Amino acid sequence: MKRILITGCAGFLGSHLSDKFLNEGFDVIGMDNLLTGDMDNIAHLMSEKHFTFYHHDVSTFVHVPGELDYILHFASPASPIDYLKMPIQTLKVGSLGTHNLLGLAKAKNACLLIASTSEVYGDPLIHPQTEDYWGNVNPIGPRGVYDEAKRFQEAITMAYHTYHGLDIRIVRIFNTYGPRMRLNDGRALPAFFGQAIKGEDITVFGDGSQTRSFCYVDDLIDGIYKLLHSNYTLPVNIGNPVEISIKEVAEEVVKLTNSSSKITFLDLPKDDPKVRQPDITKAKEILNWEPKVSRADGLEITYKYFLNKIKNS
Ligand code: UDP
Repeated sequence: MKRILITGCAGFLGSHLSDKFLNEGFDVIGMDNLLTGDMDNIAHLMSEKHFTFYHHDVSTFVHVPGELDYILHFASPASPIDYLKMPIQTLKVGSLGTHNLLGLAKAKNACLLIASTSEVYGDPLIHPQTEDYWGNVNPIGPRGVYDEAKRFQEAITMAYHTYHGLDIRIVRIFNTYGPRMRLNDGRALPAFFGQAIKGEDITVFGDGSQTRSFCYVDDLIDGIYKLLHSNYTLPVNIGNPVEISIKEVAEEVVKLTNSSSKITFLDLPKDDPKVRQPDITKAKEILNWEPKVSRADGLEITYKYFLNKIKNS
């Protein structure tokens, strides 16, 4: 039985990854300091024989007894609101946390997969974004704490690969949505769903002409699973290439929820990327992966999740 450590296991992506690897017959060790994670996301796993939970901050020394085959590093505040509120923790988990996990992977001879992000491309000047684009990032802007931590994370992970021969994978994750996103994490979709369900104004930032490309969580998890099982050590974009403006997303949410909410336009946050769309040629060729879930289907499932969450809160 293969043994895997998943950091950030109580978060949105970490909890779905824990489900996936348990279903695939892995022994899963989940680690989280619960800064932005939520035990509700993994409550159903606590009685599983092959799931162990460690309450730990990976920015400090990480000890895991026994053998490890794989490590997935998914611990980090990951929404613009979260990393504005927790800039130092965001920098530490991407840098010190990654260093600790690299040391652990080296000691255990494990393969380390790091969760990188489309934020490494910043406010991109190349569209859609290919993996060989180096990005346009403001290091001292509000997003710099996340973007630069993730860029450092890629750099140090690659250095362990070239210098120590460590087996690595780097996934660059584009906007992803689905059940277990935090309602109040400030991201566009949880914000819009929460507002629509409660009949509050929908807060579109700027004129809403900025674009994103939203991937349903099951597709993303499938792509990460395939990447881990490939032998490809350079970064791979995983995301849904269907691009849409934020104003249109807000309109879709209002329609889907049959809400009486009105759309209001607020100031655009500093350094908010104007466009974002993954070029997934590499993922298609190397992993034989592409997203399958349409936005209509994904939004429907996500709506039901948020409706239920709000009713029971
Ligand atoms: N956004 C918005 N209203 C909100 C939250 C976000 O218009 O209440 C916009 C935000 O400015 C950005 C886009 O939606 O242009 C996606 O934001 P999100 O925080 O989901 O992630 P990002 O892709 O910016 O990291």
